Amino acid sequence: MPQGATLSSWPSKKKSKLVKPLPKAREPEVALSVPPADQIKTTTCYMCACRCGIRVFLRDGKVSYIEGNRDHPVNKGVLCGKGAAGIMQHYSPARLQAPLLRVGPRGSGDFREISWDEALALAAQWLGEVRKTDPRKLAFFTGRDQSQSLTGWWAMMYGTPNFAAHGGFCSVNMAAAGMYTFGGSFWEFGETDWDRTRYFLMFGVAEDHASNPLKIALGKLKKRGVKFVSVNPVRTGYSAIADEWLGIKPGTDGLFVGSLIHELLTTRQIDVDSLVRYTNAPWLVIRAPGAADDGLFARDASGAPLVHDKSSGKLASGLAGNLVPSLSGSFRLADGREAVPVFQLLAERFLAETYAPERTEQETGIAAATVRRIAAELAHAAFKEEIALDVPWTDWTGRRHDKMIGRPVGMHAMRGISAHANGYHTARILHVLQILLGSIDCPGGFRYKAPYPKLAPPFLKPRGKPGDVAPDKPLPGPQLGFPTGPDDLLVDAQGTPQRIDKAFSWDAPFAAHGMMHMAIANAARGDPYPIDVLFLYMANMAWNSAMDLPATLAHLTDKDAATGDYAIKHIIYSDAYFSEMVPYADLILPDTTYLERWDCISLLDRPISEPDGPADAIRQPVVKPDRDVRPFQDVLLDLGARLGLPGMVKEDGLPKFPGGYPDYIVNHERRPGIGPLAGHRGRNGGDYGRGAPNPRQLEQYVADGCFHVHHLPEHMRYFRHVNKDYIEWALDKGMRLTTTPAIFQLYSEPMQKMRLAARGHAAVVPPEAHRPRIEAYFDPLPLWYPPFEGAALDEADYPMHAITQRPMAMYHSWGSQNAWLRQIHGANRLYMNRARAHALGIADDDWVWIVSRIGRVRAQVKLMEGVNAETVWTWNAIGKRSGTWGLAADAPEATRGFLLNHLIAELLPEQPGGYRFSNSDPVTGQAAWYDLRVRIEKAGAHEAKETSPRFEPLRSPPGMGSDPLHQRGWQDRNVEARGLTPSRDQQ
Ligand code: SF4
Repeated sequence: MPQGATLSSWPSKKKSKLVKPLPKAREPEVALSVPPADQIKTTTCYMCACRCGIRVFLRDGKVSYIEGNRDHPVNKGVLCGKGAAGIMQHYSPARLQAPLLRVGPRGSGDFREISWDEALALAAQWLGEVRKTDPRKLAFFTGRDQSQSLTGWWAMMYGTPNFAAHGGFCSVNMAAAGMYTFGGSFWEFGETDWDRTRYFLMFGVAEDHASNPLKIALGKLKKRGVKFVSVNPVRTGYSAIADEWLGIKPGTDGLFVGSLIHELLTTRQIDVDSLVRYTNAPWLVIRAPGAADDGLFARDASGAPLVHDKSSGKLASGLAGNLVPSLSGSFRLADGREAVPVFQLLAERFLAETYAPERTEQETGIAAATVRRIAAELAHAAFKEEIALDVPWTDWTGRRHDKMIGRPVGMHAMRGISAHANGYHTARILHVLQILLGSIDCPGGFRYKAPYPKLAPPFLKPRGKPGDVAPDKPLPGPQLGFPTGPDDLLVDAQGTPQRIDKAFSWDAPFAAHGMMHMAIANAARGDPYPIDVLFLYMANMAWNSAMDLPATLAHLTDKDAATGDYAIKHIIYSDAYFSEMVPYADLILPDTTYLERWDCISLLDRPISEPDGPADAIRQPVVKPDRDVRPFQDVLLDLGARLGLPGMVKEDGLPKFPGGYPDYIVNHERRPGIGPLAGHRGRNGGDYGRGAPNPRQLEQYVADGCFHVHHLPEHMRYFRHVNKDYIEWALDKGMRLTTTPAIFQLYSEPMQKMRLAARGHAAVVPPEAHRPRIEAYFDPLPLWYPPFEGAALDEADYPMHAITQRPMAMYHSWGSQNAWLRQIHGANRLYMNRARAHALGIADDDWVWIVSRIGRVRAQVKLMEGVNAETVWTWNAIGKRSGTWGLAADAPEATRGFLLNHLIAELLPEQPGGYRFSNSDPVTGQAAWYDLRVRIEKAGAHEAKETSPRFEPLRSPPGMGSDPLHQRGWQDRNVEARGLTPSRDQQ
């Protein structure tokens, strides 16, 4: 530009002699408004477990764009980064291409492609042989699939007791504690009343579970200026926007909440009315040390629990309305024995010095003054900011209430408090806090989502006892349930577990979601019996879903010394992607991506309900598979028909659902008129909940945007645990089995029954070696105890806690094959508190060894302020085994990404007598991932700047492009592991 010219004068309109006019160029024709798609289809996202509604843009049959569905109840148009990156998940190079049969040794990755006919015939042959002889020898476990009402039903019809999904290593403590206490839980079971709450307390949540819904909700709280307190050892994600962050020490949440309860009891700030009406606080507990009914509820002749009625001065049925029951004192029963109200026992427990804020502060890291202030803030929100809605309602006893009174305190918790050996009791303590504040299913508090609430605990009992399992017979009921006494356990007369994972045995009596994390180890050891077919779906058990990975890989490849056969004879695996589990299976049944199939997010399982009403959803195929793959649900029904399983074949032996999963979704009836989808039932689609199958049901769901919401009338939106109209409606719609209300169980009689069994007072009693453990941890009142791992170690040797968090951009390992998402998390670091690191002589970016009692892992550190000083953490499941997931052999996920799993023992140290319990919660069997204790040592300057241990690279299956083994980098690298186990010089 000439000097003095300005942008506005350049080029000058005046003709200059210096500037020759350019020949008039033809302007390129640019289409300024290209239609982004020739078709848009709605479906449901599956990039994490939230199930947001999406609109998929298609051009020439290819996915070109994904956006959130504004009409959808879960996300209201919001789409997260994972959801948008669904395109790259769908077109991932890691997609399996065709059925595969292993032809080399397990773990070698040597497969040949086979036809579906061959694959299904082989699977049916293996499964058929087992069913004919001993159905227990099939273990069927699924990961984070969303079709558990189908998979569970299939396993029940097959007849094996060995079925579960991933809950045992996820958050069963949270779910089971809620179900036993108040018939609900967080996440899919319920959530905070976001529009009305005045105070929000969150525990141990990074991006766990609720993702978009929680972000939308926190946005609402911020807009209204509601205080948000996050209790979490790490300040990332949601905690980063909290008004107050309490950087608690891992595993001490129960103690902190116990101290809040201590403070609320001391200052007498609890909701006595609600305790008297809707909880077992006034029920009388028999005090008769040594007797067979010590600690059980005193009951009348009809079995109703007794209370002491102050107005009459007599004992009365606790199920009668309009009493004035005593909450404290000691009363004589008709037989002369003493009984005391539950509330008195609860108050004695939490008013004890153990829970005094001054006593808890050292263990939790949260100052006594902070405990007192938070307790006062909770009480203020609950009682001084009470909400009263002018909505009359009737409770289950027939009492009419003019208003709905709300205690506007919201809470949310997930895996952070759950994945500890004390997680069940910790979650119970949290629910007791909610109940004492009267903030369950009330305006501004926690709200259930249908089909919850259930009874507390739910009615369902696990099946699979001796006698329940027989060749060629279905199981008489579902494998998973809620034991209420020793008689419900799945053990034989000697106390031997009947399930391969030992769920519902004396090892873990309330293992409501099974114990998938123990299935492989137990199967390989033949403990309690060997397994002939291990059938897994969407579960990366050879990598990030296993504790003590070297041991797990050894179990998968163990051979029987006598026969030379693999200890686990056959492994069938279904997944859409080439994960680390694939090379360890014998037969691969490749699944489609979530955009290529029908799915059903059902009220029979875990629906997408909103607090204001039940909701369910579907996925429809928006594109056709371009590979030789099939939806797993179709394959399962096909196998069921080949095996002749009841419900899957007609009387003439032909398949009952020849149209596969969509046929099943529409036509299957679990009970008359009750099917997988609740909307558009009845011949014309006009019924809700209960009605005949509607042949046009899927079409009508698609027309609605692939979901259906049923809005409840105002008087049924709160107090549903005791709301007469709601309970009767839910019974009619098949969401409940009885009209019995969910009375909150502050004191858990099923726990006491287990304890009495440990004292010898039951027909089914625990083996001697288990008795002290049952006595200690089956306390009917919630209690806090230190996690086992730390208690068993010398703290000087392993002074740090080590935990993982799920990042915003990845759902466990699902995002690692995603070209967009792995740019955000291609490798993970070990995050440390800056001051603590400096004290150890560790600087930012240094390489360190993370050392646990079973091994060590090398990782690079990143220092930060927002982490508890005694805690290190990393992102979950970023580290990958070289060669997998369609990644280059030297991808950062394999060279710098690491797992903490290698450091987590699957068994606890030996007990006196030699028995080793799993590294799990003793009540539910939940994997205690977050109990890991480590020390951090600076790596030597000479050591390689890459992670260790590394495992021998895996070979990609045929048809998946170039073999990553031969890609740049691997051969030249000085790898430290050549065998299937890491080199032991590192341990
Ligand atoms: S939150 Fe989960 S389900 Fe929703 S858009 Fe994101 S990845 Fe998809």
